[in-house]
Amino acid sequence: MGFRISIEIVDLSKLETILAGEPAYRAKQAREAVFGSLIDDWSQARELPENLRQKLAAECSLDINAEIFHSKDGASAKALITLADGAKIETVLMRHGSRPRASLAFQAGRNTVCVSSQVGCPMGCAFCATGKMGFKRNLSADEIAEQVLLFARILKKEGRRVDNVVFMGMGEPFLNYANVMAAVKILNDQRGLNIGGRHISISTCGVVEGIEKLVDEPIQVNLAISLHAPNDALRSKLMPINAKYPLKKPVETIAHYIERTNRRVMLEYIMIDKVNDSDDCARELADLVKTRLSPKLAFVNLIRYNPTGEFLASPPERVKAFKDILMKAGVETTERYRFGRQIKAACGQLAAKS
Ligand code: SAH
Ligand code: SF4
Repeated sequence: MGFRISIEIVDLSKLETILAGEPAYRAKQAREAVFGSLIDDWSQARELPENLRQKLAAECSLDINAEIFHSKDGASAKALITLADGAKIETVLMRHGSRPRASLAFQAGRNTVCVSSQVGCPMGCAFCATGKMGFKRNLSADEIAEQVLLFARILKKEGRRVDNVVFMGMGEPFLNYANVMAAVKILNDQRGLNIGGRHISISTCGVVEGIEKLVDEPIQVNLAISLHAPNDALRSKLMPINAKYPLKKPVETIAHYIERTNRRVMLEYIMIDKVNDSDDCARELADLVKTRLSPKLAFVNLIRYNPTGEFLASPPERVKAFKDILMKAGVETTERYRFGRQIKAACGQLAAKS
């Protein structure tokens, strides 16, 4: 359960327009004050002359309200943010305490922010609450970066920082490729939030054009792909994208990505009771990883399913048996922590409750 607090977040969309008549470095300084110094008020932007601070204070509000809900155990927090046009998105902070390393971006003692890339999602996956909402619009780069900023400000008060960002909230990042990569650049900026590419992970349901483009990006981020089924018959039932790109297509694209980048890829697999969690599915998945991908560079991350409607989560002993089959076959397999279940905040099931 949570309590409501009011949080200030900058409406950066106006920044460049307001500073249009000024030398270009002023907008840069303003952004550095916001993302680097994490100011809450323009009066704190010491690098800017007084007249600009006043102008910004008058015209570029730092105020919008976000509702923050904290889980009972304090391990996670969810922010419901209302954007300038009234659209609502959710962002989740996951505090990883001292637990052992589980997967690419989920490391011990670290703070990870799970961001949304779209309002809703057009992909319509059967198990996903966001998919059920339908699609409203893409988020701008600033709207994505501001989700991280919100929690960076909160953590700063504790002397802590945002260590990792995962694009696993609402939306399909690769349907909003340009804005997502522009947001990555903002997050990565050394004079801003300074989050390294290796601490940023993008999850896609398998939009192959996005995976292909990622190969040539200057900032190398981690790639995760939502597989969720080891064959077309099953995947088509769960994920409509499989009609456009049957499993073979994303698998080939990932193989190419691995070959070109020599980087690890996380294969996400939600464990849905009696749907995709059989021993046969595990064997088929192991076979796919071993024969068509590199078992050195592709690993499986089993995700505990958060029921949002017709499906149930696989029981823990089923998850264990599934994992054992993969591990025995030589496929590295991890399990994502069960963050945020109390606050309906787990990635992939955001905002539907609002
Ligand atoms: N659209 C992207 C990224 C957002 S979803 C994608 O699909 O990969 C992030 C992850 O959460 C995906 O692996 C998605 O399949 C998973 N997910 C969706 N609904 C979920 C639920 N109810 N419980 C657990 N994971 C879920
Ligand atoms: Fe969209 Fe990802 Fe949900 Fe599928 S799982 S509907 S791609 S957010």
